[in-house]
Amino acid sequence: MRRLLLVLPALLVLGAAPPPGPAPPQLTAPKIMTVYQWIEVLPAPPTPTGWRPHFQFPLISYVETQPFGCTNVSIEAATLACPGGFHSGIDLADLQGTPIYAAGAGLAYGFQDAQRYGNHVIVVHPGGYETVYGHMVRTDVGWGEPVVPGQLIGFVGTTGNSTGPHVHFEVRFAGVPTDPMPYLRGSPGEPFALPIGWQGSAPDDAWGPA
Ligand SMILES: [Zn+2]
Repeated sequence: MRRLLLVLPALLVLGAAPPPGPAPPQLTAPKIMTVYQWIEVLPAPPTPTGWRPHFQFPLISYVETQPFGCTNVSIEAATLACPGGFHSGIDLADLQGTPIYAAGAGLAYGFQDAQRYGNHVIVVHPGGYETVYGHMVRTDVGWGEPVVPGQLIGFVGTTGNSTGPHVHFEVRFAGVPTDPMPYLRGSPGEPFALPIGWQGSAPDDAWGPA
């Protein structure tokens, strides 16, 4: 017993020494794909002839807490056009756990993202349109699940870059955020021409009608 006590301090000193060899590599924050990058690769549904964009609100009742565009809200990313902060969608606040519904028919994809959109769903619609629903407490869709307008896709939360329970709702065209309000009011502008090579546009229409 006495011998063991004499040996222990020596072991402690050895244990405190740094391990020999090269220094461990510096760890950097993991990079995550942006919503735009995902939309570039997510399969889209075919576009029926005469299809026109029209979307419905993803919540039955809500308080709009931030509009689309240059809102000068500090937690939003600055852009050249909006140095004070660009808001890529509209924020609709409601109680945590409130059901969130698909704004239109399409293919739904559920994501987890602790940094920005939190738990979120992207629905890829016909015609080169997408809708995004951010900060959910949990999503309720599979991967590429077909959804109809008004179908439950998740529940209001405050995950990711969020300060309280709300849905961050985006309408995108060819991956680029556009103001959702004209679509929600049923008065969108004329459809834009899809960029060459964008999925759903001729001649690279891998998922649309031949
Ligand atoms: Zn937002």
